[in-house]
Amino acid sequence: MKIGVVGCTGRMGQMLIRQIVGTAGCVLAGGVDRPASPAIGKDLGTLIGLEALGLSVGEDPVALFAASDAVIDFTVPAASIQHAHLAAQAQTILVVGTTGLSRDQEAELFRAARYTPIVQSANMSLGVNILLAAVEQVARALGPEVDIEILEMHHRYKVDAPSGTALALGRAAAAGRGVDLDQVAVRSRDGLTGPRRRGDIGFAALRGGDVVGDHSVIFAADGERVELSHRASDRSIFARGAVAAARWAAGKPPGLYGMRDVLGMATPAATG
Ligand code: NAD
Repeated sequence: MKIGVVGCTGRMGQMLIRQIVGTAGCVLAGGVDRPASPAIGKDLGTLIGLEALGLSVGEDPVALFAASDAVIDFTVPAASIQHAHLAAQAQTILVVGTTGLSRDQEAELFRAARYTPIVQSANMSLGVNILLAAVEQVARALGPEVDIEILEMHHRYKVDAPSGTALALGRAAAAGRGVDLDQVAVRSRDGLTGPRRRGDIGFAALRGGDVVGDHSVIFAADGERVELSHRASDRSIFARGAVAAARWAAGKPPGLYGMRDVLGMATPAATG
């Protein structure tokens, strides 16, 4: 399978090149980044500290989509939407890991998925997707008396908050309770907030250092607390998941899929 990478000079882009080159049955089709990137023209292999691959960082996504069976995108929301349109035109599989998409952008992604398979997940790791399933079950079992709070920490460069994974965990908890997250989410607290409203799902975001991604879901009742946590210590888990998603999507009908589809754990309630 020929796989291309958009945003190939970014933290995740470089991981993806390494993962594709090291995966049997996969061939790196090429990589592009934004035209202003100082890395345009550099060899994709030397960029990540490997031998030269004879492919250089490009700036033309149209040519990359034409040359690829699948393209993996960990960039920024506006770019991911442009790439979704290109994927639809070229009928190329698209895997989107970018987080922080607005509701309108999510809807655009959904529309593009009418023409080609798109796999989107705020977190491509196996562990987090198992956590999503567990959170939904525990929220269902513990019922509405218990307060749910979601805590996440990421590196100092992360630009969106709460993380896409934290929001996905919130959706999973809300689905377990049979409520809509938008009606119960409290995304920040500051000043005189008053007491906690029963049924709210609260979020807290920490930023610092090189933390790859920590998430905890806390179920707090009177007299006891259940905490479900995941800690990512190496970005390669996301790259491995993204490449697995691209391979899984080969031959699938057009549609918007989640990582839980890829892992065979899909429930109608929540997709990671
Ligand atoms: P980064 O800033 O290191 O990399 C982003 C890259 O995208 C940069 O190289 C940038 O130049 C490039 N880019 C921006 N606009 C572009 C355009 N129009 N065309 C082509 N390239 C463009 O960021 P990162 O840490 O690699 O994270 C990227 C995204 O992936 C973020 O939204 C992050 O939250 C998300 N992420 C998701 C997962 C997951 O499992 N889904 C895991 C890690 C990170």
